[in-house]
Amino acid sequence: MKESVRPEHADDTRTALSGASLRRAFLDHVFHTQGKLPGHASQNDLYQAAAHTVRDRLVQRWISTAEAYLGQPSRTVAYLSAEFLMGPHLGNNLINLGIFDEVREAMAAAGLDLDRILEQEVEPGLGNGGLGRLAACFMDSLATLEIPALGYGIRYEYGIFQQTIIDGMQVESTDTWLRNGNPWEIQRSEWAVQVRLGGHTEHYTDDRGHYRVRWVPAKTVVGVPFDSPILGYRVNTVNTLRLWRADATEAFDFHTFNRGDYLGAVSKKVTSENLTKVLYPNDETSQGKELRLEQQYFFVACSLQDMLRLLAVDGIPVTRFHEKFAVQLNDTHPAVGIAELMRLLVDDHDLPWNEAWHITQNAFAYTNHTLLPEALEQWPLPLFARVLPRHLEIILEINARLLDEVRIRFYGDESRLARLSLISEYGEKQVRMANLACVGSHAINGVAELHSRLMREDVLKDFYEMWPEKFTSITNGVTPRRWLALSNPRLTRLVSEAIGDGWISDLAQLRALEPYAEDAGFREQWQAARHQNKVALAELVRETTGVVVDPSSMFDVMVKRIHEYKRQHLAVLHVIALYHRIKSDPGTEIQPRTFLFGGKAAPGYAYAKLMIRFITSVADVVNRDPQVRDRLKVVFLPNFNVTYGQRIYPAADLAEQISLAGKEASGTGNMKFAMNGALNIGTMDGANIELREAVGNDNFFPFGLTAPEVYGLRASGYDPAAYYHSNPQLRAVIDLVQQGFFSRGDPGLFRPLFDPQQRHDPYLLMADFASYIECQEKVSQAFAEPARWQRMSVLSCARSGRFSSDRAIREYCERIWHIEPVPVRLLHRASGAPWQVESPAHAPRAA
Ligand SMILES: *Cc1c(COP(=O)(O)O)cnc(C)c1O
Repeated sequence: MKESVRPEHADDTRTALSGASLRRAFLDHVFHTQGKLPGHASQNDLYQAAAHTVRDRLVQRWISTAEAYLGQPSRTVAYLSAEFLMGPHLGNNLINLGIFDEVREAMAAAGLDLDRILEQEVEPGLGNGGLGRLAACFMDSLATLEIPALGYGIRYEYGIFQQTIIDGMQVESTDTWLRNGNPWEIQRSEWAVQVRLGGHTEHYTDDRGHYRVRWVPAKTVVGVPFDSPILGYRVNTVNTLRLWRADATEAFDFHTFNRGDYLGAVSKKVTSENLTKVLYPNDETSQGKELRLEQQYFFVACSLQDMLRLLAVDGIPVTRFHEKFAVQLNDTHPAVGIAELMRLLVDDHDLPWNEAWHITQNAFAYTNHTLLPEALEQWPLPLFARVLPRHLEIILEINARLLDEVRIRFYGDESRLARLSLISEYGEKQVRMANLACVGSHAINGVAELHSRLMREDVLKDFYEMWPEKFTSITNGVTPRRWLALSNPRLTRLVSEAIGDGWISDLAQLRALEPYAEDAGFREQWQAARHQNKVALAELVRETTGVVVDPSSMFDVMVKRIHEYKRQHLAVLHVIALYHRIKSDPGTEIQPRTFLFGGKAAPGYAYAKLMIRFITSVADVVNRDPQVRDRLKVVFLPNFNVTYGQRIYPAADLAEQISLAGKEASGTGNMKFAMNGALNIGTMDGANIELREAVGNDNFFPFGLTAPEVYGLRASGYDPAAYYHSNPQLRAVIDLVQQGFFSRGDPGLFRPLFDPQQRHDPYLLMADFASYIECQEKVSQAFAEPARWQRMSVLSCARSGRFSSDRAIREYCERIWHIEPVPVRLLHRASGAPWQVESPAHAPRAA
C-alpha cells in the first residue's frame, strides 16, 4: 500500500503516532484511566484505554482546528439534525488517523486482538435509519474536505431500541448505550444554555415607542452540550459533533424548593430531564407528540444560541449571522429554527422584521427527505400554541406576509393560497413544517434526481412555481472510509494494491479498477476476498441465530428499516415462489440462495411488525423442510445497526432495493452494497436510477413499474385481483399464504399484508411480481457463471465513485453553502513549552 504523508514530525511525544508512543500511551491509560494492572484488565478496560489513547491524538488536532477556525473569514456549516447514526468511533478514527494496521500489529505483539477490542464499543444509535446515517456520513466528509462544520443534535439517553426476535416476533428493549461511559465525548457545562417552553406572550410598547413582545414561559430547561471530535481522513481537521442534553435549571428548583416542596422540585427536575431521554423510533412517520416537538425546539434553540455565542467570540454582529453560518436543515425536524432565529433577532436583538427575515432566509437551507405523506410533519395548532406560543405568532406573521405575496402573484387563485399556507385548514388546523422550511430557506434540495423531480412536480410543486431558483438536487452519498476502508479490509487491500490508496479520499479513482475486471487472476483474488467476508458473516449468523448457512450459496440480502413501501414482503413472495418450485418438482435445478433479512420495525407500526413475522414464519418452514436440502435458507438477523451493517454490506452477492417506484427518496444502502462489489436488484426508484446508470445496465438488475407507470396504473384503476387470476405462479404463492401454510393453518394471520382478491395491495406487489420473478431468474443465471458475476462485481465497485458523500458535500459547498476548505495546521509543543502553531514551512498537509 502507498504510504500517505503523515504529520508525524509535528507531534509532541505524548501524542505521537509511532508504535512505541501508542503502546506506551495505551498501557498508561490501562493503569491511570482504568485503574488496572494490564494483567487484570477486562476487554472493556482495554477498549476504554485504546479509545483514550486515540482520543488524546484527536484532541491535539481538535484544539488545533478550533484555533485555526477562530477569527478566520470562512462560513461555517451548522448541520442541524435530530438524528446522527454515527456507528462505533474507534475503528473509524484509527482509519482516519492512518494507524489501523500499526495498532493491530502492536496489539498482536502484546497478545491482544484488536477486533475483539473494537467489538466492545457500544454504538451510539442516535438515529432510525438512512436519514441519521446520512448525517453521519456527511460529518465524515465535511472533516475530510476540511470544511468548517458543526453537527448539532440531541444526546438521547436511549438511542434506537434493541431488537430481539422471540417466537418470530420483534421484541424491543432500551438501548443503554451510555452504560459503560462514553470516551468520545466531552461535557461542556460552561456553554450550557437555557431554553424556554410553554407559557404565554405579552405585547407592549417599550420606552422608545417600539412595539415589543415578551415571552413568559411556563418552564425553562438547561441544554448542556456534549462534544465529540469528528476527524477527517488523513487531515488535521477535527470538527465537532455537539449534542445537547436537557437538564433541570437550578434556579427553577430553588424556587419550588423554597416553597418547601422538595419532592415537587425533584419531580420537575425529572420532567425536564425526560426531554432528551429517548429517540422516537418512527422512521418516515410523524406522530404529532408534544414531547417530540419539545425535543425539536430544544436542540434547535440550544444550537442557535450557541451560534450566537460563537459569533460574539469572533466579534461579529448578529446582523451578519448569515455570512458566518450556513444552517442546513436535515429534513423538517429542525425547521422550527426558522421561527426561533426570527424570535432571537426581532425580540431579543430588536432588529426590524425585514432585516431579520433577510438574515434568516440567507442562513437556512432545507433538505427534503421524503415523498410519503405520512412523513410530512404537521403539528396541531393548539399543541403548537401550548409549547411555543411566541413561535406560533411568528409563524402566523411569516404566513400573512407569504400569502400577501401569493395573492398578488397568483391573482384569484384561492386554492393555491390554501396549499401554500403554513397552516393547513383541512380538518383540525395544523402547522406545516415543510412549508415553513421552504419559505424560510434560500435553497431546497431533494436527495436524488427522481426524488427532486417528484418534489418539484408534486409535494412542493406550489413552492417550485413560486421560487424555482431555490430548488436543486443533490444525490446522497456514503463515506468510503467507514463503508469500505474500515468495514472491508480484504477488498481494500486488494484495491489499493492494484490502483494505490488515493481512492479512499477521491472515490472516482476507483474507475482505474475497470481493466482489472478482465483480469482472471485479479477476479480470483476478488472472489476470494469476498468469499472470506461471506464466511465471516456465516459465522456471525450462526452465533446470533443458530442457523447454519453455506458461504458458497448466493447471499441475497435485504437490510433496511421495515416498511410497507420498501416491500420486504415482495422479497418473501420470491422466496415462496422458489419454495413452491421445489415442492412441485423436488428435483428442480435451482441456484442455492441464502436470504438474509434485517431491519427494525417502529414499535407502534403493526404492519411492519407483521412483516417481520412473515419473514420469520417463512424462514421456519423453509429451513426445516428436508426436501429443500439446503438449497434455500432464510435468516432474519436481529438488531440491524451500523455495527452489523459493517459486516453485512461487504458479504452480500445480491442486494434488494425493491421499493415501489416513486416512494424511496434516495436509498444509501444501495450505494454501500455497490461499493463493496454486491449487485443490486431494484426498481427504478430513488438513487437506484443513477446507480444503474453509473455501474452500467449490465451490472444492475432492474425490474418493475417506473414512477410514471405507477401513476398511470393507479389513475386507470389498479386491480390486483386481475394479476392474481392471470398469473398461476402468483396465485399459487398467494394461495399458500392464505391457506395458512406459513402460519400453522391460520389463514387470516398474514391477510393484512396483501389480499389481492379483496383489491387490497396499496404498494402494487401484484403488479411488480412477474417482472421481479423474471429478473431474479436472470440473477440466478448470472450467478451460475462465476467469471461473469465477478466481472460484474468488480465493475459495480469500480463505477460507484460518484456515490461518495465527499462528492455530495462538494456539491453542497458549491451550490448551497458557498464554502471552501480551511486547512488546519497542527499545534505542537516541545516538551515543557507552551502550545504553538509550527512555522508554515513545516505545515503538514494531507496526502
Ligand atoms: C445505510 C443504512 C440504512 C439505510 O438503508 P437503505 O437501504 O438506504 O434504506 C439504514 N440503517 C443502517 C444501519 C444503515 O447503515
